[in-house]
Amino acid sequence: MPVLKHRCVTRKVGADHLLAGKTVYIPDMADGSVEALCAVMRWMGIEARPTPPPDSQTMELGGKHTNGDECFPAKITTGDFLKIAQSPGFDAKRTVFFMGTTDGPCRFGQYAPFLRKVLREQGHGDVRVFSPRGEHGYSDFQGFDTAFVRTAWRALVSADILRKLLLQTRPYETQAGEADRAFRESLDDLCRTLEGSCSDTSCQMRAVQASLLRGRERFHSVPALFDRSRPLIGIVGEIFCRLNQFSNQQLMRRLEGQGAECWMSDISEWIAYTNMEEVRNLRLARRTFSWDMLKSKLRSQIQHKDEHALRRLFSEDSLGYEEPAVEEVLNLAQPYLPFPGAEGEMVMNMGRSAYLARHGVDGIVDISPFTCMNGVVSEAIYPKLSREHHGIPIRNFYFDGQQSDLDRDLGIYLELVRSYRESKPYRRAYPARFLSPKTHVQSPNELLLESTS
Ligand code: SF4
Repeated sequence: MPVLKHRCVTRKVGADHLLAGKTVYIPDMADGSVEALCAVMRWMGIEARPTPPPDSQTMELGGKHTNGDECFPAKITTGDFLKIAQSPGFDAKRTVFFMGTTDGPCRFGQYAPFLRKVLREQGHGDVRVFSPRGEHGYSDFQGFDTAFVRTAWRALVSADILRKLLLQTRPYETQAGEADRAFRESLDDLCRTLEGSCSDTSCQMRAVQASLLRGRERFHSVPALFDRSRPLIGIVGEIFCRLNQFSNQQLMRRLEGQGAECWMSDISEWIAYTNMEEVRNLRLARRTFSWDMLKSKLRSQIQHKDEHALRRLFSEDSLGYEEPAVEEVLNLAQPYLPFPGAEGEMVMNMGRSAYLARHGVDGIVDISPFTCMNGVVSEAIYPKLSREHHGIPIRNFYFDGQQSDLDRDLGIYLELVRSYRESKPYRRAYPARFLSPKTHVQSPNELLLESTS
């Protein structure tokens, strides 16, 4: 029905929803992703904000309420939430802290109960801690319908794409700060688009695509000189520490400063993995023919379709940086940590590292919090993976907030990278921007026409 097809209403939660009238704070894990997710919540009529950027007060408060056994991301997120709780005018009854959870093998499942305990002890027991579960692909946003889950997925994939453009452009910019400016403006554009988007899924998709293409134009306008001399470093590791620039002491900027380019694993990869895990767990529970299985499979299919519709706009830019399907990553992990005997980020690290090596990267860096179970297990297996991939240099960098001579260590590591680069057997594909500045780049309108035809 044409009337329904073009229906454009904002999808608001009801006044009785548990988040209605509250302010939701989401840990500022990754540049862009959290802002985009907050925009989707505002689209739902919920006031949402990223936690303020971590700083010395974060470390002080986090350190005061942890004893060193907790993971570094727990210390950062606790410190950031306490910073909000101690700010003037804070109203516990109108505040919700967002903290995902999981039943998985590592300590992430303890973050939310730990946060609740600290808040209670500090007299902020009225603050609600909102915890969607990884076992359901983070789709159990109580009371939120599928429109939210679908729009949130589009937001996260879009933010992944913008972050990728930033990492691909910034090392080559000839005017410092221009790539960061393009990223900021594109992200603001994306957030405005999401927040004001219609509830009709096709209409919303077109708006998000148009916003991303405007972002593409901004990045293409950044004055840059693309040359092939820079080594490409694959970045894997624990999701929070890898994405949160404060936690990893700006490791990627430091690598860029020493002449490298970085290719980092996305957030959407992890969500695709959790979707797959959900299906496997339902099978193990003999619920192959269940409503939950149907929902999970449908969600995965729709997410896959949406992701393709967004990423295909960037197929030219992404030549040589193609993202693997989660199944391919798990297959490549088989010789090292066979799934499902092992699970979680360590398996993804293995498969992803093998993929990156075969895709022609010049080195791999694993960013993990100090004592992270996934980082420690991965570190034990990387030497085998490196041997079986012609000695590609793989190096773990652990973070716990203490200063170390990171630049010196990166410099030494990059020496190994440059020497491997001379002899590596895997060829790397380069997008047109490396070949000839005159190569035709499709205009936003051409791409939009292609994607909707
Ligand atoms: S992945 Fe590592 S840092 Fe993250 S919760 Fe698990 S053990 Fe802690």
